Amino acid sequence: MADIHVMREGFLPPKQPPRRHLISIGDLQREDVERLLATASSFSRSLEREVKKLPTLRGRTVVNVFYESSTRTSSSFELAAKRLSADTMSIKAAGSSVDKGESLKDTALTLGAYDPDVIVIRHPQIGAPQLVARFTDAHVVNAGDGKHQHPTQALLDLYTIQADLGRIEGVHVAIVGDVLHSRVARSNVQALALMGAKVTLVGPPPLIPRGIEALGCEVSHDIDSIAAADVVYVLRMQRERMQEGANYVPSLREYTARWGVTPERIRPGQKVMHPGPMNRGVEIDPRVADAPEALIEAQVRSGLVVRMAVLYDLLTTGPVPVEVTEPLEVA
Ligand code: ASP
Repeated sequence: MADIHVMREGFLPPKQPPRRHLISIGDLQREDVERLLATASSFSRSLEREVKKLPTLRGRTVVNVFYESSTRTSSSFELAAKRLSADTMSIKAAGSSVDKGESLKDTALTLGAYDPDVIVIRHPQIGAPQLVARFTDAHVVNAGDGKHQHPTQALLDLYTIQADLGRIEGVHVAIVGDVLHSRVARSNVQALALMGAKVTLVGPPPLIPRGIEALGCEVSHDIDSIAAADVVYVLRMQRERMQEGANYVPSLREYTARWGVTPERIRPGQKVMHPGPMNRGVEIDPRVADAPEALIEAQVRSGLVVRMAVLYDLLTTGPVPVEVTEPLEVA
């Protein structure tokens, strides 16, 4: 019978470094954000060329799985992967086995069998991206999990602010509306605070979660306070996430009258942002949405280059190289 030898730690081969994911803005340090924004900016220059495709991720596979509707996020991830020459596959919940009741774990295992390098996932449940990360070997990007996080939205918003105002540090952003149901607001408060911006959340008390100041922001229940900000960031009224029967606001009409962002409520030159999709005439007046100060289209353009940067960064910056101290024997 063969003897069993227990090897001391030092003789074991080095452990594989953990795979990197982008699940929450909390995963990032300031220097990570700076690197991602700089990479996005170099991709934006490459997109000015006639031939827009780069060979960078040739041979890599990016799978997009969307369990909730999306226009901007899913299309920009797909185009971002294509611009970098990766193979892409997009799966929408409607029409897939998810319709037939397949659990997220089984879907993750099925997708993992194709050996994708990256899985981009949007799901109504908080924590779904972590589950996919647990059951596959892919790098996972959270494209929105319930009302929790939407990190690439926050990164593209930072990119848009930096491109337009020339800085993020010290910029005052007022985020207005349905903060309670908004993953965009949560991600943005964290990201803006990380980069040294000042954030004020503005809205009716039932739509502002209690204790949210702990994330590094101020709260105001006075719509006139948006006038002090450099950027007014308007949130969508997310009716699909509102509990049935709960009266967050007396009516949408009342909400628009008291909290809608209208030309009268903003200063000339003040920048306006919205993550989309907009409810024109509810949280934002169409005259504000279409004004030259609105950065809403710029946000969509930023989405493409920022998502290119995220895919590139996950697949090329890590994992950390393993040091080889002994020369390898070649057989
Ligand atoms: N498109 C953004 C999201 O998926 C914002 C929204 O839907 O209101 O979270």
